[in-house]
Amino acid sequence: MESKYIFITGGVASSLGKGIISASLGKLLQARGYNITIQKFDPYINIDPGTLNPYEHGECYVTADGMETDLDLGHYERFTGIETTRDNSVTTGRIYLSVIERERRGDYLGKTIQVVPHITDEIKRRILLNATKQPLDFVITEIGGTIGDIESQPFLEAIRQLRWELGPRRAINVHLTYVPYLAAAGELKTKPTQTSVKQLQGLGIQPEVLVLRTEHDLSDQIREKVAHFCNVDVSAVIQSQDLPSIYEVPVNMLRQGLDTVILQKLGVKPTRKPELGPWNDFLERRNKATKEIKIALVGKYDLQDAYKSIIESLAHAGTYNDRKVKAVFVNSENITNENVSEQLQGMAGVVICPGFGSRGIEGKIIAAAYTRTHNIPTFGICLGMQMMVIEFARNVLGYKDANSSEMDVHTPHNVIDMMEEQKSITQMGGTMRLGAYECQLLKDSKTWEAYSKQNIIKERHRHRFEFNNRYQEEYESNGMKCVGINPTTNLVEIVEIPALKWYIGTQFHPEYSSTVLHPHPLFMSFIKACIDGTAEA
Ligand code: GLN
Repeated sequence: MESKYIFITGGVASSLGKGIISASLGKLLQARGYNITIQKFDPYINIDPGTLNPYEHGECYVTADGMETDLDLGHYERFTGIETTRDNSVTTGRIYLSVIERERRGDYLGKTIQVVPHITDEIKRRILLNATKQPLDFVITEIGGTIGDIESQPFLEAIRQLRWELGPRRAINVHLTYVPYLAAAGELKTKPTQTSVKQLQGLGIQPEVLVLRTEHDLSDQIREKVAHFCNVDVSAVIQSQDLPSIYEVPVNMLRQGLDTVILQKLGVKPTRKPELGPWNDFLERRNKATKEIKIALVGKYDLQDAYKSIIESLAHAGTYNDRKVKAVFVNSENITNENVSEQLQGMAGVVICPGFGSRGIEGKIIAAAYTRTHNIPTFGICLGMQMMVIEFARNVLGYKDANSSEMDVHTPHNVIDMMEEQKSITQMGGTMRLGAYECQLLKDSKTWEAYSKQNIIKERHRHRFEFNNRYQEEYESNGMKCVGINPTTNLVEIVEIPALKWYIGTQFHPEYSSTVLHPHPLFMSFIKACIDGTAEA
């Protein structure tokens, strides 16, 4: 089958869950046996979200091939289990960069470079790129932002052109809008949806499917009204009401036939029903797991989205251990030696979160000291691992001034230091150790057990600083072992204190590769240890 293109746009407001709808649709088509990919086109001008503060766009998600991307790619991977690549995340910045580089090379032979056709052509090239590299039945493209944003215009123009060039049987637009409920009037209002669709029509795009985000059930009457005003079939007006979990969305979309209506409009005769067996088993188990355990997230961003993949990884592992994980944010900036026991009270385990810069690091070090000395299961991720290492140097090895050279370039005890090859880099974006690298596990370590005794694993990275190997022996002889090493560079990837219940720090980010059907082994083992710990207490 020739690749078919599904464009997902959003109107009325942001944060309606376009990423979840795209991921759910991908899941359903995948469950019908099709080859799919989901890609995100973001209209902002940054080359990638790597340099963005998490307060702006939430966490930066990293693909196995080392691209810093939007957090929606995390949803795509968690839902489908299909790895995305650098071709699945494109921003205005990347589009312009390649056009401008080509212009400088003289590739345009004296032409004036314009938004149409040069920028739009580059957008179209990138939209089609994934299907030239692998056989794909469906390419789902989510356009970031909201209809009406100035910077979205070239993207909408590009999908309008593509729709025309590919024909209606090969390309389709699904538009997600919001139907607000006015409490004072006791009514659901469809006008914003009508206006949003008119705006799209004004740009030459007729959406064929509408997904209406709503907090209340939409009556048939409302769906008919929307269909009537927007030139859409009633069967193609789908509602996406608030659900207890994002993982219920694919099932809800299936129930309402989102995938069937799309297949029908694209002229595809489905050969089989979606197989959601394991997905449904996960949901059932998740709903049954009502017993709660609290896990502290010690970090500096008081924002759910900043630690999205960690929260989801904990939730996956919770479900498969029949527990409901309550991730409690503990602001490391407020942690002191005096209040740490109170701040971490009732926590079955503690995650020391990743991050950049010195804000809040002393609190992370205090938390690491407290959990180490009280034998509370602790999982340090990237900067979190580095803080565990610094804490150990200060309080066990006796180097009171130990630090990372990220925080103090002059520290005499730089237990965390910059790699030689990183030292000459002055640019900020894309200059870190990024993407998946191999790691050799030490036999008989807790980590090795957690990974089902695999000797070599592969995990994704995003950092500049590293464990300083000059100190390795000293750490090991004092009880903190380096149990994961990169076999080519010898860099330390994992530290562990074997004498404690579960005290493990990873330089990599395991949270990027936990999915609904394959929870991450380290999170699984961590949650198990947290449960065992609460049982003993
Ligand atoms: N700031 C640290 C480094 O660059 C850790 C990065 C992270 O936590 N992702 O090494």
